[in-house]
Amino acid sequence: MVIVGHEPGGQLSITTEVENYPGFPEGINGPELVENMKLQAERFGAEFMWGSVSEVDLSQRPFRINIDDEWHETRTLIIASGASARWLGLPNEQKLIGHGVSSCATCDGAFYKERKIMVIGGGDTAMEEANFLARFGSEVTVVHRRSEFRASKIMLDRARANPKIKFLVNTVVEDVHDVSQSMVTGVKLRDVVTGRVWDQEVDGFFLAIGHIPNTKPFVGKIDLDPDGYIVSKGGARTNVTGVFHAGDVQDRVYRQAVTAAGAGCMAAIEVERFLEAEGH
Ligand code: NAP
Repeated sequence: MVIVGHEPGGQLSITTEVENYPGFPEGINGPELVENMKLQAERFGAEFMWGSVSEVDLSQRPFRINIDDEWHETRTLIIASGASARWLGLPNEQKLIGHGVSSCATCDGAFYKERKIMVIGGGDTAMEEANFLARFGSEVTVVHRRSEFRASKIMLDRARANPKIKFLVNTVVEDVHDVSQSMVTGVKLRDVVTGRVWDQEVDGFFLAIGHIPNTKPFVGKIDLDPDGYIVSKGGARTNVTGVFHAGDVQDRVYRQAVTAAGAGCMAAIEVERFLEAEGH
């Protein structure tokens, strides 16, 4: 049984081209890859259930999982709940989500044709989103809090070579306007070196500053690190016998579709051996 959560397919479902998944020399569209995986799993008997896990009881077996207020029992569990977008925590940010503030360029980019777009972050996601958004916007400004980038050289070079993309480094966002109009009209920026503060007009404000692991229902139930990622006990094992992990919910380093798929395979093999050893 696969519980798909409120964002079936996770980050892949909001990705355009996946260029680094083996077997697809021309790359593959994220949602298409998700659908293919689902069909393949179904061919081997997997059942998919819509719903979100709110609570778990891992203190005894069978484990109990609360899905949309209904308790389900299971002999074994693979946690593959991934990680979700991080927000800046600006005073007006949450009020303007869906009104110009977004964490998903592929979902919302097309709304900003010939508009001014800002992307926050200095990693691969920020570069990827800036390149994607440059297809739509009149200009894209990447705002990064340092002068060095975490992004890989190839992604950074591609963004730098795009004439529509400008960079503002050593710059942080203080707030986003304008709640009274229920739309993004601009941002307040601060240069962290000179201390200069200024307002800049912008229509679309895209966050690309990393992710937070989706482990809320598991707090206090399995070992998590201070950032909420699952602590692996080797292979795909967690500290609770019979509970396994796969993908970004445990992996803060590699975070690729292919590594998550490999981790899923490891977890499935561990589950099979675990159940067999228990005589099932
Ligand atoms: P990331 O590498 O963790 O980068 C996050 C960026 O956001 C960093 O530049 C960080 O700044 C900045 N940031 C974090 N918190 C911030 C805050 N509160 N205020 C301002 N800036 C903040 O995350 P990512 O770009 O999402 O990439 C995650 C992983 O996925 C990486 O391994 C990446 O290589 C991979 N990825 C690969 C591809 C691809 O190959 N096609 C595409 C996307 C992502 P600092 O640098 O100052 O910390």
